[in-house]
Amino acid sequence: MKPHRLTLTNSLVLGYGLHRHLDLFLDPRPASREELEMYHDPKYLNLLEVKTRAAVEPPATSPLSRRREGGTVSHLQRKSAGDWNITNSNPFEQAIFTEDCPVFGGMNDFFCQYTGASLAGARSLVSGQSDIAINWSGGLHHAKKAEPSGFCYVNDIVLAILEMLRYHPRVLYIDIDIHHGDGVEQAFYHSNRVFTVSLHKYNGSFFPGTGKLEDIGSGQGKYFCANIPLEDGIDDAAYLSIFREVIGDIITMFKPSSIVLQCGADSLGCDKLGCFNLSIKAHGDCVRFIKNFNLPLLILGGGGYTIDNVARCWTYETAVLTGTDIPDQLPRGPYYSYFAPDYKLHKVWDKKWDNENEAPRLRNMVANIRSKLRYLHGAPSVVMGEEGFPVNLKEWLEQEEKRIRDGEEIEEEGDDEYMKDVRKEDRHFGKGQFFQDDNDNRGEVTGEKDPDVEVRDGDGRRRARGGARRGAGVVEEDEGEGAELQAAEQLHQALAILML
Ligand SMILES: [Zn+2]
Repeated sequence: MKPHRLTLTNSLVLGYGLHRHLDLFLDPRPASREELEMYHDPKYLNLLEVKTRAAVEPPATSPLSRRREGGTVSHLQRKSAGDWNITNSNPFEQAIFTEDCPVFGGMNDFFCQYTGASLAGARSLVSGQSDIAINWSGGLHHAKKAEPSGFCYVNDIVLAILEMLRYHPRVLYIDIDIHHGDGVEQAFYHSNRVFTVSLHKYNGSFFPGTGKLEDIGSGQGKYFCANIPLEDGIDDAAYLSIFREVIGDIITMFKPSSIVLQCGADSLGCDKLGCFNLSIKAHGDCVRFIKNFNLPLLILGGGGYTIDNVARCWTYETAVLTGTDIPDQLPRGPYYSYFAPDYKLHKVWDKKWDNENEAPRLRNMVANIRSKLRYLHGAPSVVMGEEGFPVNLKEWLEQEEKRIRDGEEIEEEGDDEYMKDVRKEDRHFGKGQFFQDDNDNRGEVTGEKDPDVEVRDGDGRRRARGGARRGAGVVEEDEGEGAELQAAEQLHQALAILML
């Protein structure tokens, strides 16, 4: 999953001085067990905890164990989980803990941290503390209620949306990762309070194998779900045209009170797993388009496997969100060599996929989706209690659960293939795609270099309002190199939320 890409992103954000336009909310509280249970099956969470404890600990003298004693989860930034794999003897566990969802020491810390950050971002929005919250470490959209998938163990997006539903009647979820946002769609497939829309590669066999145009929600959630399946090689013009047209219409018809945008960067050109041709600018234009609606906005990361391009993309999008123009020349910093040979923000892809998306098919698809939106009949109403929406979230979740159960019974009779497709197909894919064992965290750009990031503990929750003088090495700062290095070390903790 390449957590090192977050370190690269932070180094660029810092190098460009974008942190001066943000509140930094470092080292947010990990998600609690109670919070995880708002969506995930307690038995599944028990299994994750047991597996984490049973994982082989790293040697006591290793740098990893020293860092663990320091209370960070930063060991994930430099060490493959492959060393810690244990053998699964139970067939069910073998089926769910695949090559892409390995069991590893610190696994529990890992998902509690990224989920805690997304929850903190959601809370900052509902409390009015911020208008936009960014958690580049979040966006793990494949995790299911009781099953990991595609290196996603806990679905931070679903939990963040549930948190937002306490106070927001309608949440729009948009997913621009190249993979279908299946875990989020499944969670809200029967709900009319969350509209999920995903643009992704789909041919029936590309992971996770779901996301057909015909999947539009079910029960009360019918028409509150849209899928935009694309072929290889889509270019900027076609992607942006579809995105603006469809998302614009959805916002007009659904009238969301807040938006969650998953910004998976594997939809960029030249991604190791991807097959689209999107430029960083076009990816960022999607973010800009959503920002301009001026609704509370939670921005999350996601996929992205060519790590220097992920860092370029998320840095550019941080600039878009802060309304800051930044030069194409990348700032010097501790990871500058990763961006060789061009050292430019808007890298030009050296090869492109053939565009297999025919214009008539795209036009028909857009027309098909727009025709379904008129069935929304205005936004659904929600009973509002004194404390916000809804009166009793627990009760609402139980009702959703019941709807899903009822829906499954119907679907198993053959009326709707969706749920069966999800269960059937999820396990056929993801063989060594998302996680590459010992090579997972290496720098691709400069060959065999292991980043070996030196990470020190932060000092807990620390916030710096825009204007605070913190910066990377090349930015001239009047606090001197010591303060700059301290800031850089704090930002190396990949789990920072950026708030506007
Ligand atoms: Zn992806």
